[in-house]
Amino acid sequence: GRVASGSLEISGITKRFKGLRALDDVTLSVAPGEIRGIVGPNGSGKTTLFNVISGIYTTGGGTASFSGRPLIGQRPHQLSRQGMSRTFQNLRLFGQMTVEENLLVALDRTPMRSAWQYVVWPIGIWRHERRLRRAAAELLDRFGLTDFADAAPRSLPYGIQRRVELARAMAAEPSLLLLDEPAAGLNGQEVGQLREIVRSIRDSGVTVVLIEHNMGLVMSLCDRVTVLASGRVIAEGTPAEVAVQPEVIEAYLGD
Ligand code: ADP
Repeated sequence: GRVASGSLEISGITKRFKGLRALDDVTLSVAPGEIRGIVGPNGSGKTTLFNVISGIYTTGGGTASFSGRPLIGQRPHQLSRQGMSRTFQNLRLFGQMTVEENLLVALDRTPMRSAWQYVVWPIGIWRHERRLRRAAAELLDRFGLTDFADAAPRSLPYGIQRRVELARAMAAEPSLLLLDEPAAGLNGQEVGQLREIVRSIRDSGVTVVLIEHNMGLVMSLCDRVTVLASGRVIAEGTPAEVAVQPEVIEAYLGD
């Protein structure tokens, strides 16, 4: 049958760095429209898992698929074209551009236009630019960034910069959004806003997988949580289910 877009299936994935097994036989399945939390102590393999999912790392065994398509061996830009979008732990915005320009760059997925095209079909180009500006305006509005459209990202409070990064990730209209510690550096109020934004993203039909250390956010936001320790999945379930498992409590206290 047809696999809904945004689904993620990972089966028996192992990733070694020299002798170390950063991921050891990891299996997990994320349903379309789910918000999945990935938690675990430092060094448990969370970032490595994201790097495998997004095509940055190849693996030493196992299979994986995204929206029903084989994932392993695909490059990050190919996965991105198929609807996978990602934010990073450290902000990666273009510092020389305004907030709006950062979004326009992400929205404009058409190949570079030659000067010749401007000569033969200027109205087409003009229409294209107008469509991009409208899409940028919608994103700015949706993420509460309209007032900051012309600002340089770095001049803005950190919580707003994080929102710009989310908006940029959403510009590609992904079916799967990977968030690497989205609450890092946010204050309590900003975490609350982030929770609402991620919910609205999911409500628009996007699957969300997030690595997060803020347990309050994980527990209040995620449908299911996968717990990693030493590269292995040690627990999985609803937030309420995993929170009471002895292995989970031990893994955190042992960190
Ligand atoms: P987490 O994101 O949960 O903190 P990581 O995925 O970053 O964990 O790391 C898992 C393990 O793999 C750690 O022991 C880490 O030192 C190791 N590791 C991660 N990336 C590399 C790398 N590029 N080269 C060698 N070892 C790595």
